[in-house]
Amino acid sequence: MLVIGGGPGGYTAALYAARAGLDTIVLEKLSAGGQMALTEQIDNYPGFENGIDGFSLGEKMRKGTERFGVETRLVEVLSLDLSGEIKKAETSEGPVYGRTVVLSTGANPRELGVTGEKELIGKGVAYCAACDGMFYKDKTVVLVGGGNSAAAEALILARVCKKVILVHRRDTLRATKIYHEPLMKTENVEFRWNSAVVELLHDDKVTGVRLRDVQTGAESEITCDGVFVSIGRKPATELVAGQLELDESGYVVANETTETNIPGVYAVGDVRTKLVRQVVTAVADGAAAVHMAEEYLAGGAT
Ligand code: NAP
Repeated sequence: MLVIGGGPGGYTAALYAARAGLDTIVLEKLSAGGQMALTEQIDNYPGFENGIDGFSLGEKMRKGTERFGVETRLVEVLSLDLSGEIKKAETSEGPVYGRTVVLSTGANPRELGVTGEKELIGKGVAYCAACDGMFYKDKTVVLVGGGNSAAAEALILARVCKKVILVHRRDTLRATKIYHEPLMKTENVEFRWNSAVVELLHDDKVTGVRLRDVQTGAESEITCDGVFVSIGRKPATELVAGQLELDESGYVVANETTETNIPGVYAVGDVRTKLVRQVVTAVADGAAAVHMAEEYLAGGAT
């Protein structure tokens, strides 16, 4: 079994597969844990009474699979050929073959789509508070978004930055209630509701943003040292475009069996169509994928 991506879904699939006696290789380009590895504190994965940081949890998941003989190769997958009985992953260190494939490539931050955004990454534009927040110690930052990630990121940034200005296109947070009170009570967090960032102001670094009021159309400017973008994620499906069926948002079409339109290929975690994208739901997918793969290899269900 080839597992593409070493997040919680991928490592759970690897654990179940190895325990079921399948030769299993995890192909991961960076480090174990996926998006989870960038999360400072995880309190909603059961079994850790004080919570745990995502990097450590990823390492624990990787080590847990090694006990059963899973090999993790730190390589980049360049292309995938999922046709035929033997599937092929072309990697930065040569081809790897498998009879079954678990796609657990997760999702990446969604971009604002304003001019200059890409060029200003690392020069004031950032997508991860836990990773880059310290660069903005005692500075003023704008945080764009209103979901759970944005709320969590705002709290992280508020601890290091002088001021955090949360810009959201609605008049209230989309984030779950648990975040509302702590955020509203944090003195150095301000809110700009009904607002969209339409321009990044900059010299060689970000100096501010231009906002548009989505109701009145009025424009205004905010001076800031950085802009953190936290407006959701886009699934990492480039490797399978044209092979696996995707929905209109780019997620691999698969239900809780994790089966895709190609027999022997399973999509787990954030990369597939699903209701709740969490660590616990990704790990559940990993178990389901191996159940289906075993049936497939035994010549049963596809
Ligand atoms: P999300 O829940 O989809 O929220 C995205 C936010 O960004 C929404 O408020 C959305 O505005 C806004 N947005 C989207 N596109 C935008 C654009 N082009 N310009 C400006 N704003 C834009 O995404 P998320 O917060 O990254 O969370 C992803 C998943 O992980 C969710 O299922 C979430 O529950 C989960 N998660 C859970 C936790 C937790 O349980 N503690 C923590 C982090 C993430 P609208 O509201 O107007 O659509």
